[in-house]
Amino acid sequence: MDYPEYLRKVPKVELHCHFEGTVRAATFADLARKHEVALPTDEVARLYDYDTIYEFLKIFGMVSSTLIDRADFARCAYESLEDGVRLGNLRYREMFFNPTLHTRRGIPMATVIDGLVDGIRAAETDFGVRCKLIADVYRQDAPELARQMVEEVLANRVDELIGLGMDGAEAPDPPEKFVEAYRAAKAGGLRLTSHASEDAPPVNITTCLDVLGCERIDHGYHILADTAVLNRCKDEGIYFTCCPTSTAVVYGWPDLTAHPIKDMVAAGLNVMLNSDDPTMFHTDLGREYVELCTALGYDQSTVRTLVLNGVDATWLDDTDKASLRTEFTGELDALDAALTGTDR
Ligand SMILES: [Zn+2]
Repeated sequence: MDYPEYLRKVPKVELHCHFEGTVRAATFADLARKHEVALPTDEVARLYDYDTIYEFLKIFGMVSSTLIDRADFARCAYESLEDGVRLGNLRYREMFFNPTLHTRRGIPMATVIDGLVDGIRAAETDFGVRCKLIADVYRQDAPELARQMVEEVLANRVDELIGLGMDGAEAPDPPEKFVEAYRAAKAGGLRLTSHASEDAPPVNITTCLDVLGCERIDHGYHILADTAVLNRCKDEGIYFTCCPTSTAVVYGWPDLTAHPIKDMVAAGLNVMLNSDDPTMFHTDLGREYVELCTALGYDQSTVRTLVLNGVDATWLDDTDKASLRTEFTGELDALDAALTGTDR
């Protein structure tokens, strides 16, 4: 076993992955045919090729427009988890989805949630992978629409639906706009997270923690610009769900050695790794570990820290978390032993 194979095989948790960004290109093409949506190209391999963030957002919207029936959501959720298992030994995921992306097209909230849950339950039966759901506020929505979305999500609540998050372009729409949506989610018993300081100053991290009540931070790369925020997050043990490839592509960091994740880990923050929108960035969870850990020369002990940070950052209850930790530690020990003496 070589080191890249080892990195693919380590058991993984994923906490920052957008359902709509995990749809396989071939499935996107199938669903477009089924629902008579025109595609920009007939070549499946080129469907997810784009040059700018605006083209990416356009394709993202187009993929969403092909998700219509409960069965469409189920198929894509199932395949998304299957890919995580096959390519990265995914064992547990808390997955984002954007309710208003679908409800604004007239798709009932129940169709979206029930379809996702069908796919999640079938994937657990077939692959043993578990998955929970986090409904995301889309920042470019009006605050009132976001609050209504939360209420509708709570009215259609299933066991799998455990949290509220927030995504979309960060700079123009700061987190404090959505305090009502977060309040409603908390009152309804949802756990809270948010994309923050991905493309905006570290004050957004402080706002998410103190005003919205977030328990984790998604991305957070600009934290390095503010020592006070950084020290506070270290002291409080805040977990950061980081995504190497998608953000390197979008922000133009020339390679992963220039990615802020390197300095976040070195600074002692609790970082864990994720694939974000894997199919749309031609990546997968296993590849994220391979690319980042080899680029930064991370040894097995650092990889173990990243993996177990993932377990500790989940919203599983304490018993479940402890047993997942024991399971992962045993597998990491066995993989470490298998790697010893082989070529790095
Ligand atoms: Zn994201």
